[in-house]
Amino acid sequence: MHKKLFIPGPTEVAPEVLAKMATPMIGHRSKDASNLQREISEKLRKVMYTQNPIVLSTSSGSGLMEGSIRSFTAKRAIVFSVGAFGNRWYKMAEANNVPADKHEAEWGHPTTAEVVEKYLSTGKYDVMTVTHNETSTGVMNPVEEIAEVKKKYPDVIWLLDTVSSMAGTKIDVDALGVDVCICSTQKALALPPGMAIASVSKRALEHGKLVKYRGWYLDLLELYKYVETKDYQYSATPSLSHMFAMNFQLDRILAEGLEKRYARHKEMAEYTRAWAKKNFALYPEEKHASVTLTTITNTTAFSVKALNDALGKQWMQISNGYGDLKEKTFRIAHMGELTLSDVKEVTAAIDKILPTLK
Ligand SMILES: *Cc1c(COP(=O)(O)O)cnc(C)c1O
Repeated sequence: MHKKLFIPGPTEVAPEVLAKMATPMIGHRSKDASNLQREISEKLRKVMYTQNPIVLSTSSGSGLMEGSIRSFTAKRAIVFSVGAFGNRWYKMAEANNVPADKHEAEWGHPTTAEVVEKYLSTGKYDVMTVTHNETSTGVMNPVEEIAEVKKKYPDVIWLLDTVSSMAGTKIDVDALGVDVCICSTQKALALPPGMAIASVSKRALEHGKLVKYRGWYLDLLELYKYVETKDYQYSATPSLSHMFAMNFQLDRILAEGLEKRYARHKEMAEYTRAWAKKNFALYPEEKHASVTLTTITNTTAFSVKALNDALGKQWMQISNGYGDLKEKTFRIAHMGELTLSDVKEVTAAIDKILPTLK
């Protein structure tokens, strides 16, 4: 038995996918390693709706967030934050001496097209970062609207964090005009934590040449150089175990069918939201509520910790609020391998436990 995870990462991993992590090693400079990364890239291009090259990094998603803001900001970055993970991008800029400004929306609310226009029209910025799905507040940003404004500023490089949404909802990277789209393995892709993925536009790679100090391990240009010139290899030894599992999991995702997968996530989100509204309140503006997790305001001030302890005895786990929201909100993730029946199971268990907590 293990606890079924309704937390926004790591998420449930199918046993047959976990088993692929135990595949015997191959040389990371071998033809087999090249083929492995090539296959993964081709499948990821479908999931991400992009023709851009794909780079993998043996780090969690934060690695490529830090790497990208550092690799591509030659002038100044504008960080559009709607919560904890947007704020993290700004901290990364500061820690790397990357010139940046931050616009932080009131928590629970999205980054609007108007705000993006206001900043980009100043001409001060060559990079903008947006969080697609803010895992602290449960807001999913209106990226189509943002993309319309962004198209007026073709010279700005757009970095998009899709760590907790890629493969849970359609993110049409090329139609949106996203230059660098970043995700990690352990959320809606339903793989163990430990690798990050990015699609990188040729425009971004050209622009990055203007940046003198890009670091090395997380330099997106260096990562790309190996993919391009060394037949889909890597600058350092990658987590081959993750790659075996990822190649297999991408087959499973494509076999399910992307549209079906998105519909499954939407169905779980709608059920969870209706349950949350009946018993509590939604934390984010409903129009911008995420389809991969629901952040719920703890209107009855019960102990989220006590609830989770009780759920644990039934082999389930949800998430408390993020940071300052720890006991003020709680979060139910419904992404990756989970289905509507799992969500019904956890909400029914919560309904039974709550009256016993007082
Ligand atoms: C989890 C998460 C991150 C951080 O990803 P790691 O893989 O843990 O480094 C960044 N952004 C969002 C929106 C996330 O949900």
